[in-house]
Amino acid sequence: MTTRTARCFCGDYAVTLEGDPLLVSSCCCTRCQRRTGSFFGVTAYFRPSQMVARSGEERTFRLDDATTRFRQCARCGTSVWYAPDDDGWGEDILGVAGGCFADPTLPGPHRMTHAATGHPFVTSPKGVPVYEDGPPE
Ligand SMILES: [Zn+2]
Ligand SMILES: [Zn+2]
Repeated sequence: MTTRTARCFCGDYAVTLEGDPLLVSSCCCTRCQRRTGSFFGVTAYFRPSQMVARSGEERTFRLDDATTRFRQCARCGTSVWYAPDDDGWGEDILGVAGGCFADPTLPGPHRMTHAATGHPFVTSPKGVPVYEDGPPE
């Protein structure tokens, strides 16, 4: 089975996931832009049981009006993975920042969301659906 490790910028904090993600999603919302410092965020979603290892010291961060808690490297602050505090996403699922894998074998995005706030030069690969707002239910 494929195993991939997502690692922070400084390398101290890492999580290892077994198997492919259930879904990979790109998001152009303004929060993803500011969180990543990039023009869009990419999240690879997994079942919690797929996270087979965790190493390094983490800290957590949650915006006051949000339920998602970000797990960051305690040293460099990179948000490596995230999950809701409650069942806010309605599923037993967690998200890993796609770029932290730095692995070209990670499957590409299945969709792009919040295109309404995206930069006009950010486009989705051919055949990948784009949604102006959030993902469809
Ligand atoms: Zn780090
Ligand atoms: Zn977003």
